[in-house]
Amino acid sequence: MNPSPVQRNVAILGATGSIGASALDVIAQHPDRYRVSALAAGRQWEALLTLVERFRPPVAAMRDPDAAQQLEGELRRRNLPTRVLCGVEGLRDVAALPEVDTVIAAIVGAAGLESTLAAAKTGKRVLLANKETLVLAGALFMSAVRDSGAILLPIDSEHNAIFQCLPQDRAPSTPARGVRRILLTASGGPFRVTPLPELESVSPEQACAHPKWRMGRKISVDSATMMNKGLEIIEAHWLFGVAREAIEVVIHPESIVHSLVEYLDGSVLAQLGNPDMRTPIAQALAWPERISSGVAPLELARLGSLNFFAPDLARFPCLGMAYEALGAGETAPAILNAANEVAVEAFLQRKIGFLDIARACEATMRRVPATPLLSLGDALDADREARAVARELLKLEQPQPLPA
Ligand code: NAD
Ligand code: MG
Repeated sequence: MNPSPVQRNVAILGATGSIGASALDVIAQHPDRYRVSALAAGRQWEALLTLVERFRPPVAAMRDPDAAQQLEGELRRRNLPTRVLCGVEGLRDVAALPEVDTVIAAIVGAAGLESTLAAAKTGKRVLLANKETLVLAGALFMSAVRDSGAILLPIDSEHNAIFQCLPQDRAPSTPARGVRRILLTASGGPFRVTPLPELESVSPEQACAHPKWRMGRKISVDSATMMNKGLEIIEAHWLFGVAREAIEVVIHPESIVHSLVEYLDGSVLAQLGNPDMRTPIAQALAWPERISSGVAPLELARLGSLNFFAPDLARFPCLGMAYEALGAGETAPAILNAANEVAVEAFLQRKIGFLDIARACEATMRRVPATPLLSLGDALDADREARAVARELLKLEQPQPLPA
């Protein structure tokens, strides 16, 4: 008989999102291995309440204080004992709870930075979906991982694929010996072959209709502009210690090959699977073991063929901007990310057109100079300044910040 597995206590930051749902689906398939210890989200308290009722975590947290109050009231009415935390501090506290040994960092955008960094500082297992943390503060995050001895497991599908293709005894952010190139695959999104003049008037619904993946709205738009792949180049640089010149993007519309590592001897290792985030999440949850994920087996004979193309930088200028920001270093990637977040939100609210996203990113990059990135404060300052400039350029109102 097999010995019973170690039970892990998992906290999910961004539990009500697309990654949160995939993670909870895998966790629910393995109640002997995983216990949900904490669930956190932004402001959708009703969605979090449903999850708390189902998974009964001892702790829940909401970024928005009013939403936290609503959640708490509803939990008390139902006699559920879950403790409710709130604000940025509440999210940071969830990441650092002593009873938690595994944190899934799946908040969308720069809003995930502080709690994801807090998780890295605790020396826990950190399953990273929030790529924006590495874009804003890659050096700080990776040094927090090294100092605390945290086990960093990427769940972005491309980076999870690369992780699986690299030697398993590699230290975080250290280049693996013998690697020549990292090849990041990209589906090309919904507008891979749309005639360029039509892009001016595409709608948020069209941009979010990704041909292969069901994801949150922000990352779906990023996939349509290919800013997502740009952010992933920066993510790969920090995770694997690979120079930007050695990271290449290849368009692969079927989304079956999730990324590849090329070695000096000409060997190219790839990880394949159906496009379903439950595979990388299950791989990271169980690492170094393997568990089932509920994903259908890959039937290669039924697929027949797989296609690969070079990306078109004229169609996808965001890709070039990300390479440039990575080359400039310091706060340049944080500035690009902030402009992109502002522009994507405005596009989703139909305040600007699709092509204005890239225009706003480029104009903000030109207006806001990169400054040294030595602390979390430096990253947050650059983020704040670039957001204000991007809003001004796009003629958007400056929003009131949430209370802490
Ligand atoms: P989503 O929009 O579906 O969910 C986002 C989650 O973050 C929600 O739970 C929301 O409540 C929470 N949130 C939003 N703003 C917040 C705030 N200010 N404070 C605290 N919580 C907040 O997004 P998603 O698609 O699940 O993506 C999450 C992250 O994972 C992103 O960084 C994305 O790039 C990355 N990722 C997603 C996928 C995917 O398939 N969805 C794949 C790879 C990487
Ligand atoms: Mg990805």
